[in-house]
Amino acid sequence: MDSIVSLCKRRGFIFQSSEIYGGFGSTYDYGPVGVELKNNVKRAWWRAVVQERDDMVGLDSSILMHPEVWVASGHVAHFHDPLVDCRQCRRRFRVDTLADGSRKAFFNDQWLPIRDNRCPVCQEGQLTEPRQFNMMFKTFVGPVEEEAATAYLRPETAQGIFVNFKNVLDTMSCKLPFGIAQIGKAFRNEIVTGNFIFRTREFEQMEIEFFVPPGTDEEWHQRWIEDRLAWYTRYGIAPSHLRLREHEKQELAHYAKRCVDIEYEFPIGWSEIEGIANRTQYDLQQHARHSGQRLDYFDPYTEQHIVPYVIEPSSGVDRLVLAFLVEAYHEEEVRGRIRRVLRFHKDLAPYKVAVFPLLANRPELVALAKEIAAELRPRWMTVYDDTAAIGKLYRRQDELGTPYGITVDVETLTDHAVTVRDRDTMEQIRVPREKLVEVLRERLD
Ligand SMILES: [Zn+2]
Repeated sequence: MDSIVSLCKRRGFIFQSSEIYGGFGSTYDYGPVGVELKNNVKRAWWRAVVQERDDMVGLDSSILMHPEVWVASGHVAHFHDPLVDCRQCRRRFRVDTLADGSRKAFFNDQWLPIRDNRCPVCQEGQLTEPRQFNMMFKTFVGPVEEEAATAYLRPETAQGIFVNFKNVLDTMSCKLPFGIAQIGKAFRNEIVTGNFIFRTREFEQMEIEFFVPPGTDEEWHQRWIEDRLAWYTRYGIAPSHLRLREHEKQELAHYAKRCVDIEYEFPIGWSEIEGIANRTQYDLQQHARHSGQRLDYFDPYTEQHIVPYVIEPSSGVDRLVLAFLVEAYHEEEVRGRIRRVLRFHKDLAPYKVAVFPLLANRPELVALAKEIAAELRPRWMTVYDDTAAIGKLYRRQDELGTPYGITVDVETLTDHAVTVRDRDTMEQIRVPREKLVEVLRERLD
């Protein structure tokens, strides 16, 4: 994990937020390379769940919503973490009560046992009774900080889909079963954060709410589990690094009938990258009750109003970015040196092609290399680089995961051919310049 975190920093994937001010707790910024990777992950997801299907539409709802949404959804009443304070040192902990009744507290990235209701850090102070701490970020809309102006930053994108159910139904001539997909930021004031971008307070979700006739929900749930698993392997995750975890009855959310996590084998251990839940009719019924609006589907054949069941595949973009980084990261020995390479699927790679002049001090090579880069740029993310010797340029692009490197050398001036280097095999082939686009198209499109 440390090698990946350091590569991310060194190569412009991910920076600590507000770093010049000493950083800001568990928040990260995606750098010039990271934003390309992240956008490609989102694009690959959108392509699979919206573009390639005839039963899904997209949505982009706002982060701020009517506060009643979170009352109806149950977040105001139920979205809590239990916290205790030490009366002596004033430290605050999230507590967890284990099955045998003993308690543990979270501090500095680890869980510490609580003995005799004493503070696990200073060992002196008594702990207060646990208080329920709501994990939604609260803010005030408009100039007055008062209860009536309270709004929340959404803790999940899902509710933006439920409250637009009727709008989508009325405008898009959708027939059951159909789904609505959305990508967007969500915020949770987690006490327990950590493991780089795995768990942060501000994060991005990719969520689907898939509406199905009651009675077909279990079958659709199973189909979605299989569909989503297949998506990960399509983009290069080894099946042996993925597993399913069925939620126990007692860990199911109050609205869920069944939930299955897709877990990835991170260096920190198996961890959730996506949850696929059967949310039943809960959300639509809750919003119908609280808004006074009808949120159901009229079936023209049976002439009945149906409240659909909802299957929700929900994943975190940042976690997927981390999983794809971990999966792609390889170290290998080449001629006595360590080669670090990110073997991204071509669709996820931040840059597809890099173009170099073999000699940066030969103006005619530089001009030709720039000309080739300009020709490729409208088709693929292309980077031009002449700031180091060729060996170093290759190593840099290996660490960025760029699938192909194009080198313009002295011979190019006479034979009008360039060298194309493959990131994974390091094989080099000589390609006539006029065939270059065609050769790359075969490999990249
Ligand atoms: Zn204490």
